[in-house]
Amino acid sequence: MPPVVDEDKCLGCGTCVDLCTEDVFFGTPGHGKKKGEKPRISHPQACYHCFLCVKECPSGALKIITPMAMTVPYK
Ligand code: SF4
Ligand code: SF4
Repeated sequence: MPPVVDEDKCLGCGTCVDLCTEDVFFGTPGHGKKKGEKPRISHPQACYHCFLCVKECPSGALKIITPMAMTVPYK
């Protein structure tokens, strides 16, 4: 599952847009650099759950629900 943006918490800082190596937020107008601009999740299928955007979001506005199949620990 791609990240979910809590629009009430999002500051529009653009950090997630800049950090995602898979361009999940590709096409966010102004590349997330306009004050108050919210990220657009345009390529949700590209997210590989690295959690970088979640960890670096300054306001805790991003959440990822990890699919059950990905939570099974490896031996
Ligand atoms: S890093 Fe967080 S606060 Fe900044 S644009 Fe992304 S969701 Fe919004
Ligand atoms: S979890 Fe990683 S791949 Fe997925 S949107 Fe965030 S930075 Fe991109």
